[in-house]
Amino acid sequence: MHRTEKGLILREAAYKDADIMLTVLTECDGKISAAARGVRRKNSKLTAGIQFLAYSEFTFFESAGRFTVNEAEPIELFFGLRNDIEKLALASYFADVLNVAADCEFVDPELLRLGLNSLFALSAGSYDACIIKSCFEFKIAALSGYAPGIKYCGKCGRAPVSPVLDINNGSVYCKSCGGGKTLDNGAYGALLYILSCDLKRLFSFKLDENSRNILSNITEDYLLSHFDRDFKTLTFYKSIKAAEAAACTEQR
Ligand SMILES: [Zn+2]
Repeated sequence: MHRTEKGLILREAAYKDADIMLTVLTECDGKISAAARGVRRKNSKLTAGIQFLAYSEFTFFESAGRFTVNEAEPIELFFGLRNDIEKLALASYFADVLNVAADCEFVDPELLRLGLNSLFALSAGSYDACIIKSCFEFKIAALSGYAPGIKYCGKCGRAPVSPVLDINNGSVYCKSCGGGKTLDNGAYGALLYILSCDLKRLFSFKLDENSRNILSNITEDYLLSHFDRDFKTLTFYKSIKAAEAAACTEQR
């Protein structure tokens, strides 16, 4: 049976002599594996649409739950990511996280839209990469069923005073009510915003550097703690950032 649907390529692996096995996050079928036959030979008509991180319209042939790619027409290739190693490293981390999140029992249909919006924003350079990363991390944790209760203090039930976030329990407390990672007003406001806003406006807020650093540490810890794993792509992204920071210091 043939079926046409759009999807984002999260992973590709060489397979047999000339094939590539793709992991695709699709609109209708969630995450699927699909074989692209003969694409490592020259002149394959599929090449453009089956690149890592391509968002394409696919025509699949499906038989007994196995998918083969018949056509792949690229819709968006995110060129802004492909010639910038730092952006590409961050986008690869996003792809890894999407890949894991799509395995959850309950997969939110917004997952693909979050992935696409984040890649669009990163590719276009329209927002600070650090903010995009934080928004992606916190929103995907929420979409995967780990939304924390942060509007009111988990102990006294009031709006939290000097809020702290208990990452493991996914609760916010007043500093005098319970323990956790210290938030400032900017970072706390950003967390509330990320949980409640529409995906279209996800990155549309500004933070000073201090709040941004607090937010950045918290969203990363939150994601890694609730997904209960590390990501090699995140380690690689951080090593690139550290190398660039060192180079900047040397130049001064
Ligand atoms: Zn309290």
